Amino acid sequence: MSQLPGFETEFDVVVIGGGHAGTEAAVAAARLGARVGLITSAFETIGQMSCNPAIGGVAKGTVVREVDALGGVMGRATDLAMIQFRMLNRSKGPAVWAPRAQCDRGLYRRAVRSLLEQHARLQAVQGTVARLLLTPDEQRVLGVETIEGRRFAAKSVVITTGTFLHGRIHIGTETRISGGRAGEMATTHLAEQLEQAGLTVARFKTGTPPRIDGRSVDYSALEIQESEIEQFDYSWSHFWSAKRCNNSGTRHPAQMPCWITYLEAEGKKIIKDNIAKSAMYGGAISSRGPRYCPSVEDKIVKFPDAERHQIFLEPEGHDTAELYVNGLSTSLPAAVQLEILRSVRGLADVKMNRVGYAIEYDYYPPTQLDPSLQVKAIPGLYFAGQINGTTGYEEAAGQGLVAGLNAALSIQRKQPIVLGRETSYIGVLVDDLVTRGVDEPYRLFTSRSEFRLTVRQDNALRRLGPIGMRLGIYSELEDATIKARLEHEDAAMRLAETTSIRPDEAAPILSGADSAPLSHAVRIVEVARRQEIPLDRLLRAVGLGADLDSEALVTADLEIKYAGYFERERAQAERMRRMGDFSLDPDLEYSDMRSLSFEARQKLSNLRPHSLAQASRIPGVSPSDLQNLVIEIERRRRLAATR
Ligand SMILES: Cc1cc2nc3c(=O)[nH]c(=O)nc-3n(C[C@H](O)[C@H](O)[C@H](O)COP(=O)(O)OP(=O)(O)OC[C@H]3O[C@@H](n4cnc5c(N)ncnc54)[C@H](O)[C@@H]3O)c2cc1C
Repeated sequence: MSQLPGFETEFDVVVIGGGHAGTEAAVAAARLGARVGLITSAFETIGQMSCNPAIGGVAKGTVVREVDALGGVMGRATDLAMIQFRMLNRSKGPAVWAPRAQCDRGLYRRAVRSLLEQHARLQAVQGTVARLLLTPDEQRVLGVETIEGRRFAAKSVVITTGTFLHGRIHIGTETRISGGRAGEMATTHLAEQLEQAGLTVARFKTGTPPRIDGRSVDYSALEIQESEIEQFDYSWSHFWSAKRCNNSGTRHPAQMPCWITYLEAEGKKIIKDNIAKSAMYGGAISSRGPRYCPSVEDKIVKFPDAERHQIFLEPEGHDTAELYVNGLSTSLPAAVQLEILRSVRGLADVKMNRVGYAIEYDYYPPTQLDPSLQVKAIPGLYFAGQINGTTGYEEAAGQGLVAGLNAALSIQRKQPIVLGRETSYIGVLVDDLVTRGVDEPYRLFTSRSEFRLTVRQDNALRRLGPIGMRLGIYSELEDATIKARLEHEDAAMRLAETTSIRPDEAAPILSGADSAPLSHAVRIVEVARRQEIPLDRLLRAVGLGADLDSEALVTADLEIKYAGYFERERAQAERMRRMGDFSLDPDLEYSDMRSLSFEARQKLSNLRPHSLAQASRIPGVSPSDLQNLVIEIERRRRLAATR
């Protein structure tokens, strides 16, 4: 019971929302030793995937591994719920491989919940937060109050309410339902309070396709897509835990196939004929949606000449025949949705389980946050996930992790953790959000990173493990495991550099790959530089490396093959790190700096960057502005020193 009158419990950190951002925020704060309350509207929807039951993909798969490297739940839960796996970009080589897993939706939710329960300091509370409790001057948070009348004290609060703030669901132009997701209430009280607090608010939209009954599908008319057989784990935790949490003796549940079909001329005509009835095209919604997850209406309007559009029928899980109709996100009326579905090959007699819809919601332009994801105007309050104008589970998870760590660090009066762009996609994501803001739902792409050769899915533990160790977020066993895993990589490199291979030992590998034979014994590292020759086979040919982790060998192989490229990128990363070390006082008076352009002064005054590196990424701040900024700051420092 709380010592504070009127409060049921005193937490260090309260996280509002048990989605992808909220669960990571709660675990991250708990790992730092904070007493955490995760307050969410319904326990049954903890870890709920609102849309596609898939985790990962290009750039996103790397984020999952980064979250995992810093002790998060997303990778571990995916490993326990994965029912189909594909390594995207496989034809382009391991440096750009991108893991993507389809999940059993129910298993995923249950896995997340049980992973949360492994943290003794984390208490989940079912409840809907109605308002933040603030100090009388509204300068700091004191806790939260739920609509059920429960009050919880907190030193920091992280809001991760996704699409729920003033959420409004649209199905056609006639049907509008207040809701945060189908069947779930919108959050209004908290939304009103945040707006009244003077924060800038804006609206985005997103959409989801209908779901169908798999028992009503004619599979004989469809193409099958099987899972890749290869065993893949998002989480490094398998390295020490041979016994999986599902106790079945296998790492993943049994794999399930997807099915491929197409929207063709008939379906396109139905959409064209009914376009005015679409919520998005009939004028019911004006806010912006994610460009890279277009609705089917968008596809028909923007690509009128495309003959057909691919549709994936993806299983929702082992315990149901329901299928997710990937590629058919729509806000047309329900009757039209059914007509479209029945025009698709294999779906002539289909039954529609759930109707597709669009949803509009409040988001808070993220330039109102500092790089720790704290709201600049209200210290102690953090935002993470879709509330910041992003889209996607992985983007939400990455932000949740950062906000959770910082919410806990702030109450311990420690420096916030800001992941650099050169360390991670999470660093790119957070920096883009707080520095540039968003003008459409933000999604990660590899092209957003300057460091896409050295920031890869396979080396997340190498990049972030040492940061996690410094923060002290791992158990003793995890700590030892990370060290052992990284030692395997180092051992593979050492063996390659110090062991020679004879021409007869290398011959079968080289001839099989049409690679020139050796004329004399050479160090393995020299042969491994050849693109087509894998390091692990060379080591095996000389009787070494059998005891090394296969992923450690992949990383070592990449480090050898692309050493030149990696070195250049790492030198650039070092330059950026140095610029990051040039910190800028948040109270700097930019308006006096006449040598800077008017636009630069204005933007710097509004955004108040924390470092020269961050200032360099603000649109409108030119290289000459930066140079003048350094001169101005140094002049002021000299002046201050002489006083
Ligand atoms: C209809 C729909 C379609 C989508 N389509 C796509 C897509 O095509 N592609 C894509 O990448 N992403 C899509 N998304 C987005 C994706 O689901 C989100 O980006 C991701 O889930 C955001 O995570 P989050 O943690 O921010 O929020 P969520 O996962 O939405 O979690 C929010 C949590 O907050 C809880 N909550 C809300 N208000 C309160 C309150 N007052 N008190 C307590 N708890 C509260 C909710 O119950 C929920 O658990 C879609 C989302 C929706 C709803």
